[in-house]
Amino acid sequence: MNRYIIESAHAVEKCDQVIHDLFAAGYLHHFEWGCKDNDHTGWAVVEAESLEDARQIVPWYLRDHARIVRLVKFDLATDEHSKQAGG
Ligand SMILES: [Zn+2]
Repeated sequence: MNRYIIESAHAVEKCDQVIHDLFAAGYLHHFEWGCKDNDHTGWAVVEAESLEDARQIVPWYLRDHARIVRLVKFDLATDEHSKQAGG
């Protein structure tokens, strides 16, 4: 499994629909929202096999504009060489 961060913006009129659809899909508890700060974006860190699998979590009407990035952790003590090699 890989970890991905999902960043998905929605129109202010879509707040209720997005939250309802993510609840129905079982992913609402992964998400945190900027809505109360007038930034209608949701962020979630999820585990998925691939970027495409992670993208499926986003409601279809927002999917084309979602930003999804695979996350890795670095450990300076043990990973210095693999980082320099681009891994
Ligand atoms: Zn919103």
